[in-house]
Amino acid sequence: MTLSLGLVGFGKIARDQHLPAIVATDGMTLSAVASRNASAPGIAHYQDLDAMLAAEPTLDAIILCQPPQVRFDAARTAILAGKHVFLEKPPGATLSEVEALVALAADKRVTLYASWHSRHASCVAQAKAWVAERSVRRVEIVWKEDVRHWHPGQAWIWEPGGFGVFDPGINALSILTEILPDPVRLIDAMLETPVNRQAPIAARLAMATSGGAPISAEFDWRQTGPQSWDISVETDDGTLCLGHGGNSLSIDGKALPPSPEGEYRSLYAHFGALVTAGQSDVDMAPLRLVADAFLRGRNCPTDTFED
Ligand code: NAP
Repeated sequence: MTLSLGLVGFGKIARDQHLPAIVATDGMTLSAVASRNASAPGIAHYQDLDAMLAAEPTLDAIILCQPPQVRFDAARTAILAGKHVFLEKPPGATLSEVEALVALAADKRVTLYASWHSRHASCVAQAKAWVAERSVRRVEIVWKEDVRHWHPGQAWIWEPGGFGVFDPGINALSILTEILPDPVRLIDAMLETPVNRQAPIAARLAMATSGGAPISAEFDWRQTGPQSWDISVETDDGTLCLGHGGNSLSIDGKALPPSPEGEYRSLYAHFGALVTAGQSDVDMAPLRLVADAFLRGRNCPTDTFED
């Protein structure tokens, strides 16, 4: 059976990753796009989700690629229409709205998939398997990138519910909570927020495993030189370094080969399997750590930021 997909929000991630991944995935076809400003060549275009659902009753699933602030209403509408739903990360702007979607999807017996693309980066599964057989002593995360390069003109990302530097930082937290066998708790946080913005440009997090191993995370959007998306895990039997957002791996300095499957192709393969099995997959651990950082963190106003 081929799954007929409708995609909402035709921005950077939809064009760069979703479109090619869907084309490359057997058993899925992109039938329609809903976007206020853009269209995909050769694919039916609608102004919004309601128009798409009205005109395309045979759609099986809806892929939501808008910013998190507007994701809940669209997901609710799609689920109530009986469609399976694929959420880009982060799955919502609040924990409570994602929990509401989980309950609604269960009630309507449709698949809800809260995707975490970084968990499907090419070395994360290997890292998880290696860590599972060892005792973790310390974890360090350094996630530093240039916001002007990666998020030019994205006004939503600086608004409440846009996450600021946690938009990329949550990717690191999604890998962390995937590869560590124990739950992670947040102890303390420091958020730096430009005085003319609503969301942080940098954050430092202190966390720990349930066994007490310390975890530090540094997120910074002011990095203009080499970019860093690195996680190192020190164990009782060697140190693992995941680099390039989970796409390179070394153990005690020795590089290991990555798996060949791309992140977004792997996400769509997983989504197809969930639909076939009649299951949902919604892990809120990364979002919960971000929520805890906002709950527990000290906010330090910093220099104004202009794009
Ligand atoms: P983007 O380029 O700004 O695109 C978002 C799209 O959402 C816009 O093109 C717009 O589509 C639609 N939209 C609907 N309501 C909107 C609103 N109120 N404000 C702004 N846009 C609205 O953002 P993106 O980078 O694709 O990111 C979208 C989601 O994907 C975010 O949750 C982000 O965390 C996630 N993501 C991004 C990346 C990345 O590298 N950029 C990577 C992985 C995940 P229309 O104009 O078509 O209506």
